[in-house]
Amino acid sequence: MSNAVTMTSEITVRPVQSMSGDAMVVAAARVSTSGEEAAALVNLPAEESTGLIRYLMRHRHGTPFEHSALTFFVHAPIFVFREWHRHRIGHSYNEESARYRPLKPVFWVPRRDRAMIPIDGWKPGRPKFLTVDQAIRVDWKNSGQGQHGTTTELTAEADEWYAREVDRDRRAYQLAYDLYQESLADGYALEVARCKLPVGIYSSCWVTVNLRSLMAFLSLRTHEPAANHVSYPQAEIEEAARACEQAFKAGWPVTHAAFCEFGREAP
Ligand SMILES: Cc1cc2nc3c(=O)[nH]c(=O)nc-3n(C[C@H](O)[C@H](O)[C@H](O)COP(=O)(O)OP(=O)(O)OC[C@H]3O[C@@H](n4cnc5c(N)ncnc54)[C@H](O)[C@@H]3O)c2cc1C
Repeated sequence: MSNAVTMTSEITVRPVQSMSGDAMVVAAARVSTSGEEAAALVNLPAEESTGLIRYLMRHRHGTPFEHSALTFFVHAPIFVFREWHRHRIGHSYNEESARYRPLKPVFWVPRRDRAMIPIDGWKPGRPKFLTVDQAIRVDWKNSGQGQHGTTTELTAEADEWYAREVDRDRRAYQLAYDLYQESLADGYALEVARCKLPVGIYSSCWVTVNLRSLMAFLSLRTHEPAANHVSYPQAEIEEAARACEQAFKAGWPVTHAAFCEFGREAP
């Protein structure tokens, strides 16, 4: 097997299964007044659920949303899972084991257009970044070159700046992976050899999450200026969260609309 590292920016989030829909939220809420007859409501047309679902969301009656769930297959760098696994409630995880099988030489690199250069006055609670092109434009403006540099020159300088970062990533990843293979060839166990692999290496995981906890996750891992509580997540977990949100919206359109309407807060 070749040890040459592959570098990618792709993050995969693929639904494996989806349990129920808006009508289940209504049926679960109706148990309180209908008892065993509530089960008959699970096939209710979605539009008939709107009023009650909006009421539940607005008044933060959260438990009816816990009877719906989604399972995702996720392929992402380990630093994304480090953040995702912090969500403990209503999330179940099964991850591939680097103790039991060697990790593949697949590593993350930032996309060329990712905002990643901290602005002046950067604050940890509200990080703000520029793309390499934007940062060069600011540099040029500050140095008075702005009027003279052409777009072609700017792109060339940005390409070079980005290429230097990608090259550093490649060298670090290749060295780490070669040494990992060297340890395995020397007879060391996977669980010991893996310590040299960086958090940019990819792993895969199944995540099962109930709808209430998914909303809590989305409220923290997406950035929406109009939300009741504005969060500033790292771009890569936000990308994964947005993919989860698409599956949520497709399967529970009424609940998703109410979630957005009432400030993207978990009920
Ligand atoms: C933008 C951002 C920056 C972050 N920065 C850091 C950082 O610098 N360092 C760091 O360590 N983490 C950081 N985190 C992670 C953060 O502190 C949480 O661990 C993570 O967001 C999971 O949130 P949670 O605990 O609400 O989720 P869950 O664990 O899913 O919990 C959901 C809810 O259940 C309740 N709950 C869960 N456990 C308990 C408990 N033991 N006692 C009482 N109530 C409980 C709470 O109401 C909680 O909100 C960051 C998160 C974000 C979004």
